[in-house]
Amino acid sequence: MIGLEVHVQLATTSKIFSGASNEYGSLANENTCEIDLGLPGSLPVLNEKAVEMAVKFGCAISAEINEISIFDRKNYFYPDLPKGYQISQFENPIVGRGSIKITDEAGATKIIGITRAHLEEDAGKSIHDLFQGRTAVDLNRTGTPLLEIVSEPDIRSAREASEYFKQIHNLATFIGICDGNLSEGSMRCDANVSVRQKGDSLLGERTEIKNINSFKFVERAIELEIERQIDVLEDGGEIVRETRLFDPDKDETRSMRSKELSEDYRYFPDPDLLPLVLSREEIEKIKSELPELPQQREKNYQSRFGLSGYDSKQLSVDRSKSDFFEELAKASGLPKLSANWVNSNLSSLLNEKGLGFDQTPILPSLLAEILIRIDDGTISSTSGKKLFRAFCETPPEIPEIDDRIDEMGLRQIGGTDGLKDIVLDILKEHPTQLAELLKGKQKVLGFLVGQVMKKTKGAANPKEVNEIIQGEIKKG
Ligand code: ADP
Ligand code: MG
Repeated sequence: MIGLEVHVQLATTSKIFSGASNEYGSLANENTCEIDLGLPGSLPVLNEKAVEMAVKFGCAISAEINEISIFDRKNYFYPDLPKGYQISQFENPIVGRGSIKITDEAGATKIIGITRAHLEEDAGKSIHDLFQGRTAVDLNRTGTPLLEIVSEPDIRSAREASEYFKQIHNLATFIGICDGNLSEGSMRCDANVSVRQKGDSLLGERTEIKNINSFKFVERAIELEIERQIDVLEDGGEIVRETRLFDPDKDETRSMRSKELSEDYRYFPDPDLLPLVLSREEIEKIKSELPELPQQREKNYQSRFGLSGYDSKQLSVDRSKSDFFEELAKASGLPKLSANWVNSNLSSLLNEKGLGFDQTPILPSLLAEILIRIDDGTISSTSGKKLFRAFCETPPEIPEIDDRIDEMGLRQIGGTDGLKDIVLDILKEHPTQLAELLKGKQKVLGFLVGQVMKKTKGAANPKEVNEIIQGEIKKG
């Protein structure tokens, strides 16, 4: 039995209770002010954007949004938390029950219940390896807004847990509340794990593995913890409630500390902050601004455009990619070709340049013009790729496109008279080969096609050239 607590850093400009910058990677302690430092007399002021983002997420998982929620003090002392408490939400979180769909190991859709999601502030960082024998403290992360999303213990395997974490990652980045950068700690999770005999109705005692920041690690950490717990129980031992740490280098989980219970934190409502009150209208407004969500888009691409499940998923995970595809499909009227291009040529170009889909060097409307010309045979798909590369460097105005095609000599000489004349010329120029061909020597056909290709500088469609020559032979 597995339940995950996922911490999502919200992509706000400033901190959750102060005006200090929420940027990652600044000089140590640069993004701090008296509130983050916990100086006496400073007072927190709630960031409206963080509230909006929490509500956005809640609406995206069809959760109850609580019109009244309360900020509480969770009391504990670490050097990276100078106030001596973390502001969090305890009994009255902003987001109540909801759910998330994942695909389980058998490929079936499975619903994982979400117990709640609450707003809180992140703590700073203690750095133990900077100065010998001393600990350094960087408070830049202090006060970064977090949405903690708590699942029901509905997850049944390590792989499902990793799927669930991915699903939250997709959703949070899609709706734009988090940059999703796992290596910078933008999303981290704690995994609660217990085991029990088949048929037992009670849950077993659990342990909690803290601060996991990758899809692979969450899977491995849980696998190891399940094995460890089964070993302990089979040896007649007992599982103790504790917090554990996953060490990817040693490939093990180990005990960090015995688990604090909520009593240990002496939660109480923060007297410096009023209850957070949201009106139905405010909630409805935020809800109405949500984009169509990835799982819905994935379904639509299959039913509306007849795309494969794989292609549809590839196209719908990233918001900018999905938006680009939809605009391209609409402008070109060619959804399948659009899907191929977005997933292959466009993806590899962006990869090469290290760009995201929100930074494409070509507009969907312009790429659509290329696809239309490939589809109607004006250019070959190889020429389409050349044109695409060229247009990414220097995009033309729409009316200039055909001139550019001619300038670059990419216009395919179509099956009409133009190409036929060239073929006839070539046949006339090579009477010996023609005679051999007429005698049934198929080998020279390739040579003749090659001559036409040479003359047209590759602009002819070889299949068409072939057909024209065959037609002439039949005529004798
Ligand atoms: P805490 O306050 O100690 O973090 P919660 O009751 O909020 O405890 O639960 C935290 C997480 O632990 C939730 O995701 C929940 O689903 C999970 N959980 C609770 N009991 C179990 C259990 N017996 N086995 C596995 N996970 C559990
Ligand atoms: Mg917890």
